[in-house]
Amino acid sequence: MSVYNFCAGPAMLPAEVMAKAQKELVDFNGLGVSVMELSHRSKEYLAVAEAAEANLRELMNIGDDYAVLFTHGGARAHFSAIPQNLVGAEDQVDYLISGQWSAGAAKEAAKYARVNSIDLRSGNGLEMAKVSEAGQGSYLHYCPNETVDGVAIFEEPETDKPLIADYSSCILGREIDINRYGLIYAGAQKNIGPAGLALVIVRRDLIGQAQATTPSILDYALLDKNDSMYNTPPTYAWYLAGEVFKWLKAQGGVGAMAQLNRQKAALLYDFIDSSDFYQNRVDPSHRSEMNVPFQLVNPDLDAQFLAQSQQAGLMALKGHRSVGGMRASIYNAMPLEGVQALVTFMKAFELNNK
Ligand SMILES: *Cc1c(COP(=O)(O)O)cnc(C)c1O
Repeated sequence: MSVYNFCAGPAMLPAEVMAKAQKELVDFNGLGVSVMELSHRSKEYLAVAEAAEANLRELMNIGDDYAVLFTHGGARAHFSAIPQNLVGAEDQVDYLISGQWSAGAAKEAAKYARVNSIDLRSGNGLEMAKVSEAGQGSYLHYCPNETVDGVAIFEEPETDKPLIADYSSCILGREIDINRYGLIYAGAQKNIGPAGLALVIVRRDLIGQAQATTPSILDYALLDKNDSMYNTPPTYAWYLAGEVFKWLKAQGGVGAMAQLNRQKAALLYDFIDSSDFYQNRVDPSHRSEMNVPFQLVNPDLDAQFLAQSQQAGLMALKGHRSVGGMRASIYNAMPLEGVQALVTFMKAFELNNK
């Protein structure tokens, strides 16, 4: 029986990537050692690191005016590092709040700058007109895909300030124009690779004036100068991310993934909407293509749904503890067959329990 893992993160990785990593685990390129046993400064590892960066730049069309940083600390490290690197402690910064992660980013940033929070949440949707309340701040921060709430913002908010975005759960899931952003960042464990790595893509003219108390390992200019090797980077996670980037290129790149992601999401949402047994409450214009929360109209059946779906090879469908119900995370690595299997299971469960 095939197992499909719907975990929100750490999430599933492409089967082909896992198989290649297994094959190379104890003997990388005939060296007789694992890639995780190589010095990060060896020529063999540097080739791995450079290829990963080059492939990411190609996939996302990133020019030389942007630094690509492979860092520690997950996305949350950058909740602190972004204000520390980009503004002074007395500067105002604008944060759009669309769910739990953007709220968390604003709260952390308040330790390092004066945060103006603009809460867009309104009923089951977002009031995008409120974006105009921003504008005094030195940058505008938002989260295009709220992993917990299943809420997405598909169009970049209008601003003449540097736009900063937390792409943790949707990077490489659809095409974006990086030139519209000052900085984007993402923890790796949703759509890139294993936990332990975070990516920062930042316009170079914005960095170099970090607050004096910024930890060196999170000083973007220092990391850029040292090719992300100021200290030992998470080398194995970086290698696996590089394998995912190669896999993405082989699938046809981000455009091809975006098409498949839209198809997967439509299949699931269309089924949920056609049923009066399941529901998703998010305003259709802000429904995430990556994280699909849904509820059984009768929550007494939740435990049974989770037990039986697990038995059917559909893993980790339990919703976030703050939201309840179910959540299916369907990132790039989730094949169409996984979503088809989920819908088939949901149909059968509905028939058996109506
Ligand atoms: C998971 C997630 C985070 C936190 O990531 P860590 O790597 O655990 O720090 C932040 N933002 C978003 C949108 C996420 O999905």
